[in-house]
Amino acid sequence: MTKFIQKIQQFFSHLFGFSSPKDPKQQLVQGMMQALQMTEEKELACEDVFEVVDQYAEMIIRGEDASEIMPLVHHHLAMCHECKDEFEMLLEMMQATAELTAD
Ligand SMILES: [Zn+2]
Repeated sequence: MTKFIQKIQQFFSHLFGFSSPKDPKQQLVQGMMQALQMTEEKELACEDVFEVVDQYAEMIIRGEDASEIMPLVHHHLAMCHECKDEFEMLLEMMQATAELTAD
């Protein structure tokens, strides 16, 4: 999909003969491409994942199938190392807290 987007970008650059990256036409095309990417892949942004990652970790701690319940988050974590690192840290913290308070 990313390669496909790059191809389209190349095509547009060719078509309009962009000279500088600040060209407003190019910015328009980039905006279009981003919108296309968003709708086509239905992916969450890092901030979307950040908002629900604690719920996601809680589900895992409760032994629920988090990847089944929140597949988009699961997908993002599989693709994005930054969010995965954050999620793993959070999960570890929450597991440690759960152990401390379980008594
Ligand atoms: Zn991310």
